[in-house]
Amino acid sequence: MKKLLNFLLIVCGLLTAVSCTHSSSPGPNEINENNENIYTVDLNSFEESNTEKTITFDKQTKIVTVNGEQEYEAVYAYLGLDISDYNIIRIKYKVLGDYGFHLIPDYDDESVEWEDREKNYCPSNLTEMVFPFIEGQPKLNGIALRGAWGASTKFKVDSITIEKVSNPVKTDVYASNEPSVIDTATSGTINANLSAWDFVKTTGAGFQYSPLGFGPSDYEWGMDNYHPAGIAKPSKAMINLIKEKGFKTVRLQTNPGHGMILDKDYTVNPSYIKAIKEVVDWCIEEDLNVIICGPFAEHTVNPIYLKKIEEGNIHFAGYYVNEDYKAESLKFIEAVWKQYAQAFNNSYDEHLIFETFNEPMDVFHEHAWLPKNDCAVCQKDFAILNEYNQLIVDTIRSTGGNNANRFIMVESLAGNAEALADNLFKLPEDEAKNKLIPTFHFYQMGSSPKYSSMYYTNLIKQKALDILELLDERYFSNEIPVYISEIGASRKISILERINCMKDFMDEVTKSNRSCGTILHSDNDVNALYEFHCYYDCRKLKWFDEEFLDTYIYGANNQEYVLSDEFIEEHEVEVESIVGKNLLKAPVEIRGTEGGVTLDGNRFVRSRPENYKLEFEVETISTKARIHLAYHDYKGNWVDLMGRENVSLLQGGTLDDGMIMVTGTPVVVSIDNDTSCEFETGGSLYVLGEDIIIKSIKVVE
Ligand SMILES: [Zn+2]
Repeated sequence: MKKLLNFLLIVCGLLTAVSCTHSSSPGPNEINENNENIYTVDLNSFEESNTEKTITFDKQTKIVTVNGEQEYEAVYAYLGLDISDYNIIRIKYKVLGDYGFHLIPDYDDESVEWEDREKNYCPSNLTEMVFPFIEGQPKLNGIALRGAWGASTKFKVDSITIEKVSNPVKTDVYASNEPSVIDTATSGTINANLSAWDFVKTTGAGFQYSPLGFGPSDYEWGMDNYHPAGIAKPSKAMINLIKEKGFKTVRLQTNPGHGMILDKDYTVNPSYIKAIKEVVDWCIEEDLNVIICGPFAEHTVNPIYLKKIEEGNIHFAGYYVNEDYKAESLKFIEAVWKQYAQAFNNSYDEHLIFETFNEPMDVFHEHAWLPKNDCAVCQKDFAILNEYNQLIVDTIRSTGGNNANRFIMVESLAGNAEALADNLFKLPEDEAKNKLIPTFHFYQMGSSPKYSSMYYTNLIKQKALDILELLDERYFSNEIPVYISEIGASRKISILERINCMKDFMDEVTKSNRSCGTILHSDNDVNALYEFHCYYDCRKLKWFDEEFLDTYIYGANNQEYVLSDEFIEEHEVEVESIVGKNLLKAPVEIRGTEGGVTLDGNRFVRSRPENYKLEFEVETISTKARIHLAYHDYKGNWVDLMGRENVSLLQGGTLDDGMIMVTGTPVVVSIDNDTSCEFETGGSLYVLGEDIIIKSIKVVE
């Protein structure tokens, strides 16, 4: 951030030099009707462009045009104004592009944090903003108008005034006095006889579209809340792109608890519901199915979110799958779903589907992401989620009309597959027959790049077969369909590995004895900063890795997408043997029990003999010297390597309760193929211990 400040200071410096020649007449000082001081900024004092010409200001029309992807372009107006008699800055404007802009007060005081200047964002849905000055600032060097981070936009500035007012508070960007959005159609058609089983079989390839599923942000973006995640404003063009590619279903994530709540009754900002409706209507126009997904749980543990709650910010609210928060969570869930169901009813037939939650989980509990049926807390959480899901189904049904027969996807604890198959998960009681669809998420090769397997292995294949077998037993054999409302693979994984995995998976889910639909998860991380599941460029509207997408889309339609020989040749992954190579970059010293090393499981895939030995060259520090080898299997269970049946200690020590008590060097352990596959798929082999220096670790025949 310091770099940015320097940049701004350079701009300021330059402009001070330029502006001094013609800024001798400051704007008029006035007194307004409330007897308050007003200083009007002469808009002509804004420079016509920045040095790079990526942002321009037209002095005739007062329109600022931000062209480009440079992050911090600004136009600057020098003021050199004593502001000790003022307390706010007011801007009247109109956004003509997709994003708002920042109004940055350049205080003479360099100690003011960059964030405190930059937070003044003017959202695209408003036309006037008031920003109080930071107290005690005597002088304002000038004002910069800057585009939103790395996004092109356009806006017209009507006026900027510096004022002294009796109540200097920032404009509430999340307030609204719009009327509720109600679907007033008195009758509508819906295929009441269509069963969930038959319907899910027709849902084809699905696409995750997430501009309205906000995460936490320190800044206040108004309705531009999609922007900090790097997502373009929702557009019909994007829906057309999805349709043209061959997708049949769109999953629209929503998260009203991040800024879109208006009061203690959890009224959802009607502008937000309108934004959802706009996207839903675009999908319906294109004959796509569209799933409106209920709120997220994971962000409610984010410090930014918690801070807003602590400050009593009324626009933020959420739910917890947790006993202590149950009463209030029930109110929140009921309120949100009642409003969704009232806004979407008779105007929508079976193409519109509701999904209760996105990954509801007990965020405070250690098993949040991987619930365990033998844990008392998880058992309770299962019951709480059952209650929440029941409430949502009842709330939707109570609105009558088409909602009495609408399909509802019912999400499992943490969106977890085993949790869905577990008897602790209950499908709600429903007055409508055959209209509920149990739902989970499944990232076969891992979700984020950090936790992904880089290679498609037999065990990863088996993982899908195991889960589908559980679902066969619990659901498919009883003619209950299942929907997987997120599947996908990080683009960090080599494309051919992803394609092979996807192909096999789609062969399984489309088997005729199953009714199973899927949504391909894509985020919007064009710059690959976070999860990197981005399969489209939301600004340029183009796809990435089309062979992967086509494999999925064809697979969802029970067809095979044939790859060209050239493509296969180009992308085939060649793996070098690791036999005889030291797997450590440098010796690892474990003093006491502090220290250790994690060996990436991916390094062992296809690079080693079927059965092999691990050879540790070591130096003991004390008589307590020991090595402890362990890993997490793909289900998240902790496994001691030496406890595995076909693993044995061949040399260098004795075994004591899963630990190798080291007596000499080298320490040699034999590893069988099944065990190696386990830590390769689980992610890592942990090398822990006590009082020992590990100089090298080698795989030997
Ligand atoms: Zn638990």
